Amino acid sequence: MSPINLAIVGVGKIVRDQHLPSIAKNADYKLVATASRHGTVDGIQSFTTIEAMLAAVPEIDAVSLCMPPQYRYEAAYKALSAGKHVFLEKPPGATLSEVADLEALAAKKGVSLFASWHSRYAAAVEAAKDFLAKTEIKNVHVIWKEDVRHWHPNQDWIWQAGGLGVFDPGINALSIVTHILPRAIFLTGATLEFPENRDAPIAADLHFRDAGSMTVHGEFDWRQTGKQSWDIIAETAGGRMELAEGGSKLSVNGELTFSAPEEEYPSLYRRFAEIIKAGKSDVDLAPLRHVADAFMLGKRKFVEVFHD
Ligand code: NAP
Repeated sequence: MSPINLAIVGVGKIVRDQHLPSIAKNADYKLVATASRHGTVDGIQSFTTIEAMLAAVPEIDAVSLCMPPQYRYEAAYKALSAGKHVFLEKPPGATLSEVADLEALAAKKGVSLFASWHSRYAAAVEAAKDFLAKTEIKNVHVIWKEDVRHWHPNQDWIWQAGGLGVFDPGINALSIVTHILPRAIFLTGATLEFPENRDAPIAADLHFRDAGSMTVHGEFDWRQTGKQSWDIIAETAGGRMELAEGGSKLSVNGELTFSAPEEEYPSLYRRFAEIIKAGKSDVDLAPLRHVADAFMLGKRKFVEVFHD
């Protein structure tokens, strides 16, 4: 089969760090164009708008949308309307309703829509899911604490409404939790801390439960200096399970049981090719629903102003 002619929209940090190397290694794809107001990729024809790109390069089969979430819907609507398959960076949009609209449009146009969750493809996530499926889970503790100044310097969009604030990394934890737990969870209470000068939270404390007696406590904080934490700990009948370092290492009762090289974005691109070939979409909104629930149910606290 000939490769999928792929275009990228929104050439920035994640495109350079992850999308370009993953696409280059995957023979299922040929990168044919980019659209970005400033960013370009060496040797690839570039446009400043998606409209100009779609008009000039009709052979494009699929488009990866990598701009901030507040600007994703417009581009996705245009790409799907033009009959292109669409890969949405996480989070898939700024609201649940706009992503639902895109899902319906993809079905109507007969193309594939992929709401990607890269952390679900972290090395030890499937091993954690298998472990939890075979035991009784008592409680889960999610600790996602990082230094926003280190990881998101001068990214204004992330602090604006729709940018999600600390949920930008926190939604990665929620994408793992919703994948590895055997039953659905729902929010019972939350506290969100907003810097007085920002529209998005810098910290969130979240409490969930399932239909039974299992509880999940999430602590998301962007003020963490020193050791960074991206850990999910489950107390279970089979022992203490620790899925550490963003899903890359699994330990049970302190003993490392699984680790493997990082393959998140290569796996995302394999999955995108798979759904295109199968003629289906992959849109799981559970992580974004939990964030929306936190904004609906969470108490708000204002904390000191934040400057980069
Ligand atoms: P970024 O570098 O700040 O933004 C990506 C590109 O989007 C920018 O270079 C810019 O390109 C374009 N853009 C920015 N503001 C825009 C606007 N107002 N309208 C249209 N385009 C705009 O962000 P990023 O870190 O790559 O993140 C992009 C997405 O990937 C986010 O949803 C993020 O959650 C996700 N992600 C990021 C990471 C990470 O480590 N950074 C990891 C996983 C996922 P032009 O100026 O050339 O248009």
